[in-house]
Amino acid sequence: MLPEAYQKLRVSLADSISKSRVIDDPLRTLAYGTDASFYQLIPKLVVKVEGEDEVVQVLRLARAHRTPVTFRAAGTSVSGQALSDSVLVVLGENWRRYQVGDNGVQIRLQPGVYGGEANRALARFHRKIGPDPASINICTIGGIAANNSSGMCCVTAQNSYQTLVSMRLILADGAVLDTGDTASRNKFAQTHGALLADIDRLARHSRANKALADRIRRKFQIRNTCGYSLNALIDFEDPIDILQHLLIGSEGTLGFIAEITLRTIADPPHKASALILFPDVGTACEAATRVKHAPTAAVELMDRASLRSVQGRPGMPDYLEHLEGGVASLLIDTRAADRVSLKEQTDAINRAIESLRTVRPVRFTDDAGEYGQLWRIRQGLYPSVGAMRATGTTVVTEDVVFPLDVLAPATTELQQLLRRHAYDHAIILGHALEGNLHVIFTEDFGRKDAVDRYARFMDEYATLVVDKYDGSLKGEHGTGRNIAPFVEREWGREAYTLMREIKSVLDPDNILNPGVILNDDRQAHLKNLKPLVAVDPIVDKCIECGACEQTCPSKVLTLTPRQRIAVLRELARLQASGEDRPREWELRRHYRYQGIETCAADGLCALTCPVDIDTGAIVKQLRGRRNGRVRRTAMQWVARHFDLACASARMALVMTDRAHCILGPSFMHRLARGAHRLSASRVPQWNRYMPMPASLSRFVSDSTGTQPRVVYFPSCTSRTLGPARGDPDMDPLPVKLAALLRQAGYAVAYPDRPQRLCCGIVFESKGDIAPAETKLREIEQALRVASRGGEDLILCDTSPCSLRLKQALDGKLRVLDVSEYLHDHLLARLPLHPVTAPVAVHATCSIRRMNLEEKLIGVASACAEEVIVPDGIACCGWAGDKGFTRPELNASALRHLAKSLPANCEAGYSTSRTCEIGLSLHSGRYYRSIVYLVDHCARRG
Ligand SMILES: Cc1cc2nc3c(=O)[nH]c(=O)nc-3n(C[C@H](O)[C@H](O)[C@H](O)COP(=O)(O)OP(=O)(O)OC[C@H]3O[C@@H](n4cnc5c(N)ncnc54)[C@H](O)[C@@H]3O)c2cc1C
Ligand code: SF4
Ligand code: SF4
Repeated sequence: MLPEAYQKLRVSLADSISKSRVIDDPLRTLAYGTDASFYQLIPKLVVKVEGEDEVVQVLRLARAHRTPVTFRAAGTSVSGQALSDSVLVVLGENWRRYQVGDNGVQIRLQPGVYGGEANRALARFHRKIGPDPASINICTIGGIAANNSSGMCCVTAQNSYQTLVSMRLILADGAVLDTGDTASRNKFAQTHGALLADIDRLARHSRANKALADRIRRKFQIRNTCGYSLNALIDFEDPIDILQHLLIGSEGTLGFIAEITLRTIADPPHKASALILFPDVGTACEAATRVKHAPTAAVELMDRASLRSVQGRPGMPDYLEHLEGGVASLLIDTRAADRVSLKEQTDAINRAIESLRTVRPVRFTDDAGEYGQLWRIRQGLYPSVGAMRATGTTVVTEDVVFPLDVLAPATTELQQLLRRHAYDHAIILGHALEGNLHVIFTEDFGRKDAVDRYARFMDEYATLVVDKYDGSLKGEHGTGRNIAPFVEREWGREAYTLMREIKSVLDPDNILNPGVILNDDRQAHLKNLKPLVAVDPIVDKCIECGACEQTCPSKVLTLTPRQRIAVLRELARLQASGEDRPREWELRRHYRYQGIETCAADGLCALTCPVDIDTGAIVKQLRGRRNGRVRRTAMQWVARHFDLACASARMALVMTDRAHCILGPSFMHRLARGAHRLSASRVPQWNRYMPMPASLSRFVSDSTGTQPRVVYFPSCTSRTLGPARGDPDMDPLPVKLAALLRQAGYAVAYPDRPQRLCCGIVFESKGDIAPAETKLREIEQALRVASRGGEDLILCDTSPCSLRLKQALDGKLRVLDVSEYLHDHLLARLPLHPVTAPVAVHATCSIRRMNLEEKLIGVASACAEEVIVPDGIACCGWAGDKGFTRPELNASALRHLAKSLPANCEAGYSTSRTCEIGLSLHSGRYYRSIVYLVDHCARRG
């Protein structure tokens, strides 16, 4: 039962925010209770905001009802700052606008823009934003600015604080200030004169107190995200300038960043890197000091344990395996506008360290392959700890900064400290020039003794970092809940009191993210630790980093992959403990739709997951567990009589098409929608792009002469589903493709009785594993015979089936998807006359998983002068046949499709007939197989 204050808040919010965006059900609040840290807090309400007005309204009401709020952008924070047990205000979809200004020298950004997106917009100017967290492609500007994040190349002078031009911000009382707009500044000065006077007073006090000012200056000479950006008080005099800089790194505790303008930095095109191996950490740190003034873009330290965690993995250099125990490395990167300057720079770096002993000769490379290999070592470290950890343990990332002149002894002592606490597999890596090291280890917070060990470690860690070396306890990840109890210890009483005053001036009612940055509880870092209960080996390695969320087709409709896993973990915990059966049942009931039904099971999440988790795989397993004996028997029957099943489906399509003709599209649509709803989604939802039955083809193999031979497997969907009524080209795909192959001079061979064949994906996606395997074995046998034991290439015309066949038959038979067959074998043999009108292309999930996107686009580019690949559309959400039964998933996944296509783009192309139905429906254009485009171009002229 929701506490009274939250009930009232929910009622008040109903006037200004759509009910669907105010979430209070137990499943989704639980799902939002996780970020990338090792803390968990379950919000009472989640509110998805879509505009400034809504943020203002939420803040005013939250203040009135005394219900604290926490802002959430991409939720990739690792210190526990993007969590709330009160109201979580999540940025919806409407915060993604940006504007590049002044030839790329500035960029204005809304907080929901992903960092990588901003850099892609700046790339043509050879510029980028200064902050560069390793998570730049999965985190957003709001989080980057609010955490003052940085990464490998970003020196202190390039972070959000230093590159800030102006900001649009919203304070706790709902006041909006645009610091780049004179009228707004003037108005704010009138309405908030007292607040600005308070800021001015604190700034004057800080500047007048020399000891304090010196301390602040010294603390920000190195990276520091522990506590507030107190440097704002001494760097600026205008209270509004101070205010906007205080918001940087404030982790949502001082106000909301609604827009930000950043000065960009140069991104030279020529790059070279070297992995330099030193005999010990001391020498590596000495080298870092020596290259401090050399022209480096990044200097990454990795200790022996780091290198050990990736050695022997695919793509890693062999020499890593033969290094001595104490070895440490620097990965040095340098960038220049031209090759001559690049050479001069690598020479300068070599000179700076030439007198130091190295384990292997120093060699810089600008070869793209070798360069990529070196950086994959660095990028693989965090995932490798995540992947190697024992089930149930959590990855802990500490983020320390030492002054550069003490980096060598401090790092050695840090290694000793980790050993003393038996964190034997801990790795140390980081940005050496900044003295910023990440300490990554695993801990089982489910055990009391482990929590106690972590508590002892943190106390001694603070003694080493703060008391002995006067370093920062956080350099780039933000204070969060993790370091909040140590802020006073690091900064001292006077500076801490200043922070408290800042908070009470800007958030007098303490409603903005309380407990983060400032926290009176000295044990706060040991509370709300996230349990990571074992669920299934498929998902147990999940580190809840959020890298999989962006491309998931169900992320707006229901849950993301990370949330699916987080809920499964809680279900496993509840089941094991038996502590709250009613809650467990309720969660299970909601999970059926939110977690299982609306997962497209496309496996797209595995592509971006650092530990290769395919959440769809566990969903399919859960579907399988629900399938009872009757269904299992029925599915086995269908598998055995598959030609009959396809014929029945074709018959159903005939009848549906007749009804369409007689009733007309709009009446037919209303009728079908009613039936779909009344049947609780059991009756498939019809739409006007529904395929007509594919006219029955006779699959007769050509006799082989001197022509090259190809085995063509027409999938069951292309054998069954023809073009949609009204499509100007009514030939079914198997007819079209066979004709094209013959035109290109191929002899076409079919497997025996293809009508009965199927790769089994239709069964597998629903968890019907036994019939899926039956079909796979059957097709393997048929393709083996048809391809003369694997001598001939096998062409499959539907990408999801190609993927399944490749996965199952790889190494035994040579299966090619239609996109690669066209690209690699057919295009060169056909006379192509490209069309002038733009064409849209959709790369299905399976195309992405087979890494064939470029080939598909290459085929389209050979056939059309302009090819449009709409940004931000990854999976169409049709998911085999789910588009018929759960059309809302497809609608949600393709909600931006129509508006991302120009009016003169009249046709779309893809490689899966079922996906093409949904793409047609939500774009208002006929989508067909890419084969039709090639055929069209080959026949023009
Ligand atoms: C694999 C991995 C690698 C990482 N590497 C780095 C790294 O190299 N460097 C680094 O610095 N960090 C790194 N991080 C941490 C994290 O990705 C960054 O700190 C990132 O900037 C957080 O952005 P986000 O969009 O996820 O924000 P969130 O986590 O959602 O929020 C971050 C903070 O900002 C607040 N906030 C969000 N939006 C707003 C807003 N509009 N106004 C005011 N406050 C707001 C939130 O309340 C929260 O306190 C990494 C994380 C992961 C998982
Ligand atoms: S599934 Fe992978 S990408 Fe997604 S949160 Fe878990 S570890 Fe990260
Ligand atoms: S399989 Fe697809 S729909 Fe399911 S969680 Fe992964 S990305 Fe999302």
